[in-house]
Amino acid sequence: MPRELVILSGKGGTGKTTVAAALAGLSAPVVLADADVDAANLYLLLDPEIRRREPFFGGYKARIRPGHCTACGKCEELCRFDAVFFDGPGNGRVPRTFRIEETRCEGCGVCVHFCPEEAIDFRRENTGESYVSSTRFGPMAHARLIPGSENSGKLVTHVREKARELAQAERLDWIYIDGPPGIGCPAIAAVTGADAALVVAEPTVSGQHDMQRIAALIDHFQIPCFLCVNKWDLNPALADALEQEARSLGMRPSGRVRYDAAVVEAMMRKQTVPERARAGAGEDLRRLHSALRQALAEIANPQTQT
Ligand code: SF4
Ligand code: SF4
Repeated sequence: MPRELVILSGKGGTGKTTVAAALAGLSAPVVLADADVDAANLYLLLDPEIRRREPFFGGYKARIRPGHCTACGKCEELCRFDAVFFDGPGNGRVPRTFRIEETRCEGCGVCVHFCPEEAIDFRRENTGESYVSSTRFGPMAHARLIPGSENSGKLVTHVREKARELAQAERLDWIYIDGPPGIGCPAIAAVTGADAALVVAEPTVSGQHDMQRIAALIDHFQIPCFLCVNKWDLNPALADALEQEARSLGMRPSGRVRYDAAVVEAMMRKQTVPERARAGAGEDLRRLHSALRQALAEIANPQTQT
């Protein structure tokens, strides 16, 4: 069974993807999973070659066929999401029919089940596209959510399933998941069933708050949780405080990455930071990788722990 490390942050823009790509490069070959489906950008760094693409169908949407509706109002009465309106076109029998507002429909199916005329269609929605690709560090599962579509949590779960299939097919031991920022449904979908988590946080007051929130989320899953303080030298005192608090929350501070212009240069050249720079942030990321490698080896082979 492949093991999974999910890299998370309390909000976007903390350098999570930079850290994820660097660790994947230093650990290659691994399977990569870009679970940040709302704003996928791991592919920008890794320039993957797409091997397979397929449409992704998320939740269901209900739609009334006006020609069959008798305007009994049952669907409006039962819908808990206020998605049904009495402003549909008339037909030969009634001057007005009911209409379902697609953006409000949660796809629960209640109206479909109880419509006495069987006048409501219930179809799965195409909400995105998923890909299996090759990168220089190993195979990668990723996806794109159609803008405005919901159910990104389901798409995250789909990406993770694809990543597991890749790991089994190519006999790779680790999946590195670039998780979505925040603590919402996509983040929960990214951490559920993972073997370990790495939180990337910045030494700011809001970064501290974000770390607390993400730590509380991960705590539900009772998995080892590591901390990387990114751009620690922007506020060394707060970086110390972050690590101290992380320890009190049961996390393991595992490395610090300094602020370094090489990070932007690497991104512009589609490289990871260690590929671009041996010193500075590149050196910090190598140290973080070494610290994690030992801890992850113990997770993969618990009998080797002393
Ligand atoms: S329950 Fe069916 S027939 Fe009644 S208003 Fe709704 S769609 Fe029309
Ligand atoms: S499927 Fe559920 S949410 Fe959508 S319109 Fe019907 S009752 Fe409302």
